Amino acid sequence: MKQTFLKVKERPIRTATSTPVMPGAGALWQHHQPRRVNSLSNWLKSFPFIALHLVCIAVLFLPDFGISATTIGLCALTYFIRMFGITGVYHRYFAHRSYKTSRPMQFLLACLGCSAFQKGPLWWASHHRQHHRYSDTPDDPHSPREKSFWWAHVGWILSEDHIETPHEVIRDWERYPELCWLDRNHWIPGLVLAISCYVFGAFIGGWNGNPATFFSQSAGWIHLLWGFVISTILCYHATFSINSLSHLLGTRRYVTNDDSRNNLFLALITLGEGWHNNHHHYQSSVNQGFFWWEIDISYCIIRTMAFFGLTWDLRKPGKKALTFRNVEVKRAEAV
Ligand SMILES: [Zn+2]
Ligand SMILES: [Zn+2]
Repeated sequence: MKQTFLKVKERPIRTATSTPVMPGAGALWQHHQPRRVNSLSNWLKSFPFIALHLVCIAVLFLPDFGISATTIGLCALTYFIRMFGITGVYHRYFAHRSYKTSRPMQFLLACLGCSAFQKGPLWWASHHRQHHRYSDTPDDPHSPREKSFWWAHVGWILSEDHIETPHEVIRDWERYPELCWLDRNHWIPGLVLAISCYVFGAFIGGWNGNPATFFSQSAGWIHLLWGFVISTILCYHATFSINSLSHLLGTRRYVTNDDSRNNLFLALITLGEGWHNNHHHYQSSVNQGFFWWEIDISYCIIRTMAFFGLTWDLRKPGKKALTFRNVEVKRAEAV
């Protein structure tokens, strides 16, 4: 494993309440910084995450890699739905409150987000709020500028620094006991989805419902592999690419205090999150594609839900916000 995963640079720390101070310089450092311990035990705690990646290797030993219309279709479906659970729910709803919904719908949407196996909504949203509060500074949980590409992509998740939820930034959601319960038991929706994929595949393969033969359905295992495991891994790395690549590759329309970029490819694979520079410019906007050519499928889904009365009060940037600190407008004015 490359050491760059775990590399923590020793450099001056800038925080909202402190002047620059070097690591190890005393109480100020201790107060503002989480523990930065990186050891083998961290990796052992990450075993399920690593094991899920290793299980994907099983496709190499399957006839035709297990590819069929139903396995690929199921993989695409669970990818698409769960990607929306991350982008449209965990990100735009829980982290940024960019639209409103009812309390029952809020819980159902949170379950959808949990099914992506990216921990609970409070953990996810709180770390994302930290990302915006300290974007590309030493206090950012996943800045490729401050550490490395691999740290921003996956290292920060595997480190011990970010296992706990920074509760102080997520108090607004902690008053909902059902969300706190779900956050503690975030693995349940994912497990239900995994079992559903297996049962679906078993029936496709001709299982007659006999409990005695339940675990010996090869079609069940293949659909579990494609519909849940591979789909989950694809969903992971598409999501992670926003933390890593969206701060490295692409164009910058807005002048922001970070390295955020707009990137069409990332927008396509993440249902609209690739318009990351737009997002850093106007964080509470429900749409991250600001113009019609900036494809933003999550926004289309949320707007469709609004049409049916399931969501409302969608927050969007006004004309002034669209032109403020816009380098394209400044360039046009200069000509
Ligand atoms: Zn960002
Ligand atoms: Zn955000």
